[in-house]
Amino acid sequence: MQDRYLHEVEVLRSKLRELRGGVDGKRLRQRSESEPGAGFGGSCQDSSWEPKRARDGSPGLTENLNCCYIEDTKCSSYAQHQSEPSVSHSSRLEVMHVHKPSVHRGHNTKILHFPVSSKTVIGKHSSDLHDDDDASLSSDSDFADSERTCGSGEDGDSKGEPGEDSEEDDQSVLSSLTTISNDSNTPSVVGETLGSISLSDHAHRKVIPVTSMIETKGLPGCLRMSLFSYVPPYIHFTMHDVKGEGLPAEIQRHMKWKLSTITPLVIRRTLVNSGFRLVRKSNDWCGTWGKHMKSLCFKTLKEFQKINHFPGTFQIGRKDRLWKNLYRLMTKFGKKEFGFIPRTYVLPQDSKLLRQAWEKSCGKEKWIIKPPASARGTGIKVVHRWAQIPKKRPLVVQKYISQPYLINGSKFDLRLYVLVTNINPLRIYIYDDGLVRFASVKYSSDMASLGDRYMHLTNYSINKMSSQYTQNEDATACQGHKWTVKTLWTYLEKEGVDVTALWNSLVDLVIKTIISGESSINQLTRANLVSRYCSYELFGIDVLLDETLKPWLLEVNISPSLHSSSPLDLAVKGPMVRDLLNMAGYQVPNKLLIAQQEEILSSFGVKDKTIPLCFDKRLYITALSKEERNKHSFYQQNCSREEYLEDILKHLTPDDVRHLIQSEDELTQAGRFLKIFPTTATHMYHEFFEAPRYYNMMFDAWENKYSGNRQEGIELLESLCLQKAHLVIPVPGGLTKSSASQSKTFPTSPSPPPAHEEKYETQPVVESRKVQCLSSVALYRAARPRSGKFSVVLKPYPRSAYLTRKAKPSITPAKTSSSAPTNSVIEVQSSSHPTLDDHPVKEVASY
Ligand code: ADP
Repeated sequence: MQDRYLHEVEVLRSKLRELRGGVDGKRLRQRSESEPGAGFGGSCQDSSWEPKRARDGSPGLTENLNCCYIEDTKCSSYAQHQSEPSVSHSSRLEVMHVHKPSVHRGHNTKILHFPVSSKTVIGKHSSDLHDDDDASLSSDSDFADSERTCGSGEDGDSKGEPGEDSEEDDQSVLSSLTTISNDSNTPSVVGETLGSISLSDHAHRKVIPVTSMIETKGLPGCLRMSLFSYVPPYIHFTMHDVKGEGLPAEIQRHMKWKLSTITPLVIRRTLVNSGFRLVRKSNDWCGTWGKHMKSLCFKTLKEFQKINHFPGTFQIGRKDRLWKNLYRLMTKFGKKEFGFIPRTYVLPQDSKLLRQAWEKSCGKEKWIIKPPASARGTGIKVVHRWAQIPKKRPLVVQKYISQPYLINGSKFDLRLYVLVTNINPLRIYIYDDGLVRFASVKYSSDMASLGDRYMHLTNYSINKMSSQYTQNEDATACQGHKWTVKTLWTYLEKEGVDVTALWNSLVDLVIKTIISGESSINQLTRANLVSRYCSYELFGIDVLLDETLKPWLLEVNISPSLHSSSPLDLAVKGPMVRDLLNMAGYQVPNKLLIAQQEEILSSFGVKDKTIPLCFDKRLYITALSKEERNKHSFYQQNCSREEYLEDILKHLTPDDVRHLIQSEDELTQAGRFLKIFPTTATHMYHEFFEAPRYYNMMFDAWENKYSGNRQEGIELLESLCLQKAHLVIPVPGGLTKSSASQSKTFPTSPSPPPAHEEKYETQPVVESRKVQCLSSVALYRAARPRSGKFSVVLKPYPRSAYLTRKAKPSITPAKTSSSAPTNSVIEVQSSSHPTLDDHPVKEVASY
């Protein structure tokens, strides 16, 4: 499926390039302007240009796409790959030529290639690219230096022991107040042994067989084009052990990645191979991988800076908050839906409840006590006597799952990797592999053994100290005390386990867990992030299987260790890092002069004016026009699924288009990440959100309509992008203007303009028709007769009208509880929004 999808995207991309280059988008534009209903949201059905689906005919293509190649990174270039008699290339050519024999594949590829002979100097990973203010680290020797200077383990926080390799047991989320280190001389921290598994030699690095589509397609390069016109390209990340082509020096000098105390080596290798410069001291970095930071600190991020966290994720990253959030949903929707976390008491608040539960079980139960915000098994004990529980200090006391599923007599847990690329709309991906960590001593339910941490805890940090611990160097073998999740599935399948059902229950657990923190994260994200570009987050979710194979959520790590001390770790984390950085979508900061950008683009051989080079903040703005707010309000108020499926996509707003193109671009890079939300089946989860979310409805409708035929959806979006619909942004006065001509010129200032800068809004309106069309959304809604359920008549109200409007009684019980009817209301009320602690936590019967 994945192969086919990627192939379809590739074919479509080539078609779109054809349209841009060959007919310069005229046909699309003519059509949209001349045909009724073909403007915003109008679908293009001109069969003369409609690309055929890849499914039509490409027998054996998937096979070809799976070919791996060995690349000598010293002499690799796209041109060489093109000239090689590669089966996969020729088959793709064939497919495209069926429709348009005159098209050559050169510029249809998603990788922007710049010729070696061009005037632009290709940036090597040399250490001579220093800014005055930066201590840039881009060579292997720099790595070595940085590794020597490191004084603490990968996790590097106060809990980390010096030099300790902390493995996948992550640093603590001490509180929401944990901050990122932004001191200017933060040493990079290593404690990893990548060098010992031959990853340090850039010069002679070969491409190892990988399952990623990017490598197997044989398309090296430095920049990856968007599927859409007037969207800048993204940096193309290669693997930690595959040296990419490098970026031109003019670009590379701006691709600064700020090292934090926890940036893992596998990430640093990936970055350097992909053309980034690692810096310790810089304020205009464009990426960083660090610890979580205070929500307020997110405000200091610039629009072109990206960090691996969302504000507020401590709401699921701390054990006490995680419990409270899930327990709130459990009280509302029942144990059947949310009973996947062991019953937990947060001390000292829940002391009385714990005492009652203790007495009820006559002291026969086993409990596990944990600090509320620590990791790596620190401070964890299995207990069975009341006296063993400290009563005064903050503590989490959890029911011990005393009958775990055993393999070879040993207990194990699973580390799943979950990527959230956006909070509202919520987009969740799960990696198709992970880690299985075994306890090093065989399990016994005997009370006398409770003190044996090597038996009851599965943390690597603990078990590696056991004399019985055995490493597993082979990612495909069921041996030793660490396996990959994929090998676990193979093992369980042989045991007759329904692995698909088990996987589905894990996915269900993951979605519900993320949703449990969504409201707070969304609220803090809205309040503290300047741009949607700035955040994404990788979570490490730990799950224990009991003897019936029911998954139990143990914890969520918001800084999962990517430390790779063995080939097995690297086999899982290496490709995952590559995929997640590609999905996060890094773009070239907008710091190049117009002339420079033009020169670079022409050195790439790009003449097409629909391909910009640098980051465009308009694509990530969060502000909405009045019409857009109206549309959001309308659908968020008691709109049934049937109703929004019917028409939410009929009139796409510029903001809708921006969200959809980012999601589609992101999906092309998913690699081994699997999208689990939104899908055609995930509307069932909507009721668990604290408030109905417009974007989640829109994406549900989009998946429902286009998941079986993404090409059609992409074509629709591209037709809008060719009209620059996605560049139309709201102005503070409420009007919607476009910056169409702006996009055709490059900024003259080397520094990016501030948010909502006037020059972005003083450009002529693209087509007045579009603005009319937007206004008509609200007018149309107001005039349109709706079913009895739609008692709210929506007009383009002034903002104050929304603030006073009461929420309507809802149709379903789930929606009854949703008290925030519109985005506008949420926004204004954010300061008075009830905090987690305001939710009374009641005992769930029989839990
Ligand atoms: P940490 O963040 O310190 O790793 P965890 O909550 O993941 O804390 O617990 C550490 C280990 O303890 C887990 O890997 C698991 O083996 C064991 N464990 C934790 N909670 C339970 C539980 N409720 N029942 C059984 N074992 C548990």
